[in-house]
Amino acid sequence: AKQSGRATYRFFTPDMDARAQARTRLAGELSDALAHEEFSLVYQPMIDVESGRVAGAEALLRWQNRYIGAVGPDQFVPLAEEMGMILPIGRWLLGAACREAAGWRDLELGPLKVAINVSARQVQQTDIAELVRAALAESGLAPELLTVEITESLILTSGAEVAAKLQRIRDMGAHIAVDDFGTGYASLSYLKQFPVDILKIDRTFVADALTNPDDARLIEAIIGLGHSLNMKVVGEGVESLDQMVFLAERGCDLVQGYRFSPPLAADRFREFVKGHR
Ligand code: C2E
Ligand code: CA
Ligand code: CA
Ligand code: CA
Repeated sequence: AKQSGRATYRFFTPDMDARAQARTRLAGELSDALAHEEFSLVYQPMIDVESGRVAGAEALLRWQNRYIGAVGPDQFVPLAEEMGMILPIGRWLLGAACREAAGWRDLELGPLKVAINVSARQVQQTDIAELVRAALAESGLAPELLTVEITESLILTSGAEVAAKLQRIRDMGAHIAVDDFGTGYASLSYLKQFPVDILKIDRTFVADALTNPDDARLIEAIIGLGHSLNMKVVGEGVESLDQMVFLAERGCDLVQGYRFSPPLAADRFREFVKGHR
């Protein structure tokens, strides 16, 4: 309550203030979103380059708020991290994704893998290995069908404790992927200290692969690096046939992107798989 009323109020309502209010609003809605069942998962097909078959999907979080409407993960995930909300959300989505993927068995189209995204905070501040163990046990999903995607920045900022958590997940038979690889300058020695099975080439490199020789060489280097460390390499954000061919010719193992499919609702993903056997 400022003393001088209206004039002061006007002084305090520039854009900055509106943004802060919008953010407070978003935070308020976010804190109730789990209870109101406003989250869902969509599944983006991942294609095996050699066979052309669907190898599985990456589960991506969606938030549909009854007042605000659809809010993108790039907007609400960072906020959920700050609020600590990412921990309960993460627990929910781990269970939901494992249950859904366990149901893909019934499609009888061969084993399909599911990849989930975990935030740095989720790995650092929870017993993530125990959460994974519980989700696998409860869903009956075979551990080797689950991949946990971590960020390159997690590797850069974490030490032995985080590496040990990831190792426990790996010991169960699940896989660890490094998301957006190439953007965070993780050095070779860092990568060697972490139990990693998969590198996902950031989509910004794929986008410029055919026009920028630096990006092309970077992709070749990442594929070479991954394979020399016995890892699989995934090309993300593949939008054109030319990008697909570029990656295939360089030995990339898996691809995903709008060229094949956008992220799909669960039932649409099942239809996609049936249509691509
Ligand atoms: P990400 O993990 O790199 O996810 C891939 C993003 O690229 C997705 O955006 C996907 O829709 C988009 N994408 C897929 N194919 C193409 C393509 O061909 N071209 C282009 N331009 N984009 C493509 P989305 O779903 O908006 O997710 C954005 C980011 O939000 C994710 O990036 C991830 O960092 C975060 N996120 C999403 N779901 C979760 C989650 O469940 N947990 C956590 N912690 N983070 C999540
Ligand atoms: Ca990801
Ligand atoms: Ca990514
Ligand atoms: Ca990303």
